[in-house]
Amino acid sequence: ARPSEVRAPTGPGRTQDGHRVELLANIGDPSGAAEAAQAGAEGIGLFRTEFCFLDRTSEPSVAEQAEAYRQVLERFPHKKVVIRTLDAGSDKPLPFVTNARETNPALGLRGLRTARIAPQVLENQLAAIAEAGQGTDAEVWVMAPMVSTVTEAEDFVALCERHGLPQAGVMIEVPSAAMMAGQLLSRATFASLGTNDLIQYTLAADRQLGSLADLSDPWHPAVLRLIEASCQGGAQQGRPVGVCGEMAAAPALAVVLVGLGVTSLSMTPRALGDVAAVLSDTDFPTCLRLARLAADAETAEEARMRVRSELPVLR
Ligand code: PEP
Ligand code: MG
Repeated sequence: ARPSEVRAPTGPGRTQDGHRVELLANIGDPSGAAEAAQAGAEGIGLFRTEFCFLDRTSEPSVAEQAEAYRQVLERFPHKKVVIRTLDAGSDKPLPFVTNARETNPALGLRGLRTARIAPQVLENQLAAIAEAGQGTDAEVWVMAPMVSTVTEAEDFVALCERHGLPQAGVMIEVPSAAMMAGQLLSRATFASLGTNDLIQYTLAADRQLGSLADLSDPWHPAVLRLIEASCQGGAQQGRPVGVCGEMAAAPALAVVLVGLGVTSLSMTPRALGDVAAVLSDTDFPTCLRLARLAADAETAEEARMRVRSELPVLR
């Protein structure tokens, strides 16, 4: 659709029969928050804080960070805003945290792992988030990228608690986290599936390599089964599990994700209306059935065809 044709959701996300699915926005800076509010997002599901500081050679001060975060929070009074701590490294190097000389940067010091070499940067960021939160009515949720073990989740949650941030979550972006979701969520209060990276690490296919684009397929049943396992872990602990990777913005995949058990979908603001519309046209038993068909397929192509043939509007 052309921008003028982008539709906004007309209310909170629900399936046709009323199963609730929060529809949230992905943003990278305060101007994104304004756009998300205008597009009818119920909150922010992913604030990529590193996008605010990509051009920096030195660490932004706590006061400067707090101001950027406050500008986002004030757009969403009484709504959830999930702030992700800096996802530096790999495709998003930040000179003040990362080491550019790794041979395998996607498997190196990135995301939460950077706290091994620069713990003070994470401490300062959490201090800035806590400070920003004090000045607003938004619900501040904080999450760490690239969590791969229960110990990492535990340490991150403890650190957030020390900064007075009780809503502390983990991103599930690597298969180890998906398989251990129940244990992670006995520590963390929520999880968000970063499916862009989960696909990359499940298929072992660099997300930036065009020659492997056919392998980076969100319909791959291995990816869908890891998402299902993550949701089962969340359900066992009574904790929400959302998706904030790009696949949440594709209507047919959104139906499948809801059937696999995700509780929220976070996406680029302009996709919210189309996803809201497909959910409001589909009942939850259909989501469950299509999710089963897709996850039980043998190939990505088979999963896609099975679902698309039943959602003809989207073909
Ligand atoms: C993801 O990996 O799906 C994600 C949302 O994080 P990013 O794209 O910023 O790595
Ligand atoms: Mg990621």
